[in-house]
Amino acid sequence: MSQYDVAIIGGGAAGLSAALVLARARRSVLVLDSGAPRNAAATHMHGYLSRDGLPPGELLAAGRKEVRHYGGEIVDGTVDGLAADAGTGFQVQVAEGQRVSARRLLVTTGLRDELPDVPGLRERWARDVLHCPYCHGHEVRDQQLGVLGGTAGAVRYAQIVREWTEDLVYFTPPGILTAAERTQLTARAVGIVEGTIEQLVIDDDHLRGVQLSDGCVVPRDALFVPPRFVPNNDLLTGLGCDTDEHGWVTTDATGRTSVPGVWAAGNVVDPRAQVITAAGAGSAAAVALNADLVDEDVRIAVETHGRSFRPTRTPSEEAP
Ligand SMILES: Cc1cc2nc3c(=O)[nH]c(=O)nc-3n(C[C@H](O)[C@H](O)[C@H](O)COP(=O)(O)OP(=O)(O)OC[C@H]3O[C@@H](n4cnc5c(N)ncnc54)[C@H](O)[C@@H]3O)c2cc1C
Repeated sequence: MSQYDVAIIGGGAAGLSAALVLARARRSVLVLDSGAPRNAAATHMHGYLSRDGLPPGELLAAGRKEVRHYGGEIVDGTVDGLAADAGTGFQVQVAEGQRVSARRLLVTTGLRDELPDVPGLRERWARDVLHCPYCHGHEVRDQQLGVLGGTAGAVRYAQIVREWTEDLVYFTPPGILTAAERTQLTARAVGIVEGTIEQLVIDDDHLRGVQLSDGCVVPRDALFVPPRFVPNNDLLTGLGCDTDEHGWVTTDATGRTSVPGVWAAGNVVDPRAQVITAAGAGSAAAVALNADLVDEDVRIAVETHGRSFRPTRTPSEEAP
């Protein structure tokens, strides 16, 4: 069984950035990746300084090349089990049958976007059904936009989307808008449509509008939808990592979880992380991981040194 300093589960921006830092720090590092980054459906990635507009796959391909250049290993595969091992640190079980061990773990498995059950929504995801105004807002600026409301925080989200257009409609189930929310939306000229959405109207491979249950169609060019973020954190909770009241694994600022030796970074622990912040979190975790390994290396060296050390006697200590 192969043994590594660090096994990284998940080869998106967070995992590959960590791997690059660790490989350059001369650590043996293995990235295991199932090849489904969250933004795979997007044609372009925005907001990453110096890489704005790059197809997401190209960033990862360049990242893989850089990691391998420094000796980091990357294997395509899905990890389906992690276990603490008193001898080596941790065992990593890959679904395809391979098993490796590692002194430390970094989990960067991202999150899943769960969309409301509206016909047409999933099919148009990342095209004209969008979730992140910072990722896509500029590309649909000044168009007829909509926000699928009705969930906690959706009105505030609509107010943010409003920055990109003066023609915004907020769709909400009837009877749940508070008076204050209605005033806030109206004050910034956001249209309010109360009703049940039947489906999205698609024509010629473009969103044309939002159809309500009474048959009325509200023309829209793009629809912003706040998804429910679900962390891919089964591997972490399986190891016993602490979670908050919403089920998200908690870490310190470096990504250290409550389980010694286990770190996590990127969307798996932070739904707000953009590509650049996920990469930054991976990098910060790598620096902390390396420091933790150095501490262990020092401990081991001192123990080994202590066992083999025979102090040289000074002349005054010599027996007569
Ligand atoms: C449609 C869309 C468009 C977006 N556009 C932008 C944008 O323009 N700019 C921006 O900054 N952000 C954008 N984002 C957000 C961006 O996707 C995330 O910020 C980023 O992907 C987070 O990186 P990550 O490394 O944490 O997770 P991910 O990129 O999701 O990587 C996680 C990796 O872990 C792997 N994995 C999961 N489970 C396992 C397992 N058990 N074993 C092995 N591997 C596993 C996955 O296959 C994946 O490769 C967008 C998101 C979406 C949904």
